[in-house]
Amino acid sequence: MIGFDLTAEQKWLQGKARQFAKEVIQPIAGQHDRDGTFPLSVMKQAHQEGYLTPLVPKEYGGQGLGVLDTCLIAEELAAGCMGVYVSIFVSTLALYPIIKFGTKEQKERFLKPFCSKFSLASYCLSELTVGSDPASMKTTAILEGDIYLLNGTKMWITNGGFADLYLVFATTNPNKKHKGIICLIVPSHLEGIIHGEPIEKMGQRASNTTAVTFRQVNVPKENLLAGEGEGFKKAMAALDITRPMIAIGAVGVARMAMELATQYAKKRIQFGVPIAQHQAIQFMLADMAIGIEGARLLAYKAAWLADRGMRNSKEAAMAKAFASDVAMKVTTDAVQIYGGMGYTKWHPVEKLMRDAKVIQIYEGTVQIMRIIIARRMLEELN
Ligand SMILES: Cc1cc2nc3c(=O)[nH]c(=O)nc-3n(C[C@H](O)[C@H](O)[C@H](O)COP(=O)(O)OP(=O)(O)OC[C@H]3O[C@@H](n4cnc5c(N)ncnc54)[C@H](O)[C@@H]3O)c2cc1C
Repeated sequence: MIGFDLTAEQKWLQGKARQFAKEVIQPIAGQHDRDGTFPLSVMKQAHQEGYLTPLVPKEYGGQGLGVLDTCLIAEELAAGCMGVYVSIFVSTLALYPIIKFGTKEQKERFLKPFCSKFSLASYCLSELTVGSDPASMKTTAILEGDIYLLNGTKMWITNGGFADLYLVFATTNPNKKHKGIICLIVPSHLEGIIHGEPIEKMGQRASNTTAVTFRQVNVPKENLLAGEGEGFKKAMAALDITRPMIAIGAVGVARMAMELATQYAKKRIQFGVPIAQHQAIQFMLADMAIGIEGARLLAYKAAWLADRGMRNSKEAAMAKAFASDVAMKVTTDAVQIYGGMGYTKWHPVEKLMRDAKVIQIYEGTVQIMRIIIARRMLEELN
């Protein structure tokens, strides 16, 4: 059975997030894009709304929502500003493995305090020399008695400078590749954690991206979330759940660009008529609508599968690849429709185009998504 009706609760969540984006995110988005600062006060308001912990079960103080519910919120927040949205979203990426794979004791110890007071989390997988190929990571975690000694530097860490909790992937033995990778829950107050300066980025400049160095950090053994042979699988499993949330963020960015371009095309007069009356412009707008609708449906399907506990690696990768390509194309065409005005800082479409680019890169590049899709297709057709 297929249905596209939203429940009353889902419509309410969507409406509330739309209002939050309009009243809280949009008014500050331009400023944080210009100066590259982190919107801490917006993050605190996002905490009050429960946007930092949508998937955390209610018994631990979270919202107890599903992946599809979270996607409905995400599209609205990302339409407000993708840099702000991704700062909100990353806590879910870091917390999901604890929700899914943590022991009862770990959930009590980490999720409850995280939800009860304003907190941010980071997901630490990438390194300077290791992005698409995390199995080759160099950060080590060596068990010595009751502690893991954590050493290494993680790169490109979203919320890196503000996180209260880091979910860190490290290897017990680099020669073992993915089989040596473990996952540790690392509170930021432990000694030996140093974050770098915010990295100057092309887009999503409201998000805080830093290197995070772990120097002889003593992580208690009981903070082990996934042992050897399990850590890599759990990192990948988390991405299957969160890729639909990034895909739908791309939809939010593209939707905003389409709405702005449509409004502009109806007002801008050339050759005596609004440019919206020229077929070349209409076709660009129509292609935007086709791409956005297709991307949203792919994200919804990947989320729907996740909510049913069904394997969704292929669908999540499809949604992420398609939606981020759509966002790039739609925002580029929106600049085109604005003409010279689109290339200036006077209108928000250039920001949307810069914000779109990195969606094709983080959480796995669009090339890596195609590798995942092809691999799964070849397995299925065996
Ligand atoms: C703003 C931002 C925020 C980020 N946030 C986080 C975060 O919070 N946590 C985290 O862990 N990481 C984060 N990342 C890292 C991100 O996930 C990586 O940048 C991404 O996975 C790509 O890795 P890389 O940059 O090392 O590129 P590389 O892996 O070096 O890839 C370079 C190019 O080669 C291509 N390529 C690589 N291998 C193949 C292949 N086998 N076949 C075809 N093409 C290939 C890639 O698609 C890409 O086009 C973030 C990155 C950015 C820019």
